[in-house]
Amino acid sequence: MVNRLQKILIVEDEQSIQKLLEFTLMQANYETAIAQDGEQALKMVMEESPDLIILDLMLPKIDGMDVCRQLRNRDIDTPIIMLTAKGEEMDKIIGLEMGADDYMTKPFSPREVAARVKAVLRRTGERAKPKDEMLEAGQLLVYPNRFEVYLEDSPLEFTRKEFELLVYLMRHPNRVLTRGQLLQAVWNYEFAGDTRIVDVHISHLRDKIEENTRKPRYIKTMRGVGYKFGE
Ligand code: CA
Repeated sequence: MVNRLQKILIVEDEQSIQKLLEFTLMQANYETAIAQDGEQALKMVMEESPDLIILDLMLPKIDGMDVCRQLRNRDIDTPIIMLTAKGEEMDKIIGLEMGADDYMTKPFSPREVAARVKAVLRRTGERAKPKDEMLEAGQLLVYPNRFEVYLEDSPLEFTRKEFELLVYLMRHPNRVLTRGQLLQAVWNYEFAGDTRIVDVHISHLRDKIEENTRKPRYIKTMRGVGYKFGE
């Protein structure tokens, strides 16, 4: 079984810093997701269950402080590293009081980012330990945190994106999901515009989990719209 990479949610509206963080964290062997503003951040925390959040203070719609406060109010204790700009010294203190775990001041070096993330993850490891969630449908059993899929008790091998797609579908059962939604959820717009990648992965998933791919039991095609997971 492939070990699951830890996922870092980057919440930052400045593209240059977004890219720097994304690149640095990928180099350090983390998976990344990006939210452009506070509203999207709150949504993505629920959908993506990141292991850590890098949260910029100054954000459109809902600012970083408010995002932090709202998460903690909902008992979501995902570790948070706040990003502040020079001159926002006061906010650091408030940020830590608000429930952030650490902070970094811009500009920062890639090495500092990687070191901070690693340190915070290690420090909060016990707290952030994922619950052993289990998703079940028919003969299909999936452990999202363990990267394991079983069909009739036999383990199946999946690529990361296939696995993420399956987990997303199973977390949203009996709902019509458009190709665009799936692209956003699983690929994070990486291939924006080209929804064929969704179809290709759905087809791979079906080959693995469906007894009869022409008459799928789990992943149904909603003609002209998208897909629906349901037994
Ligand atoms: Ca900003």
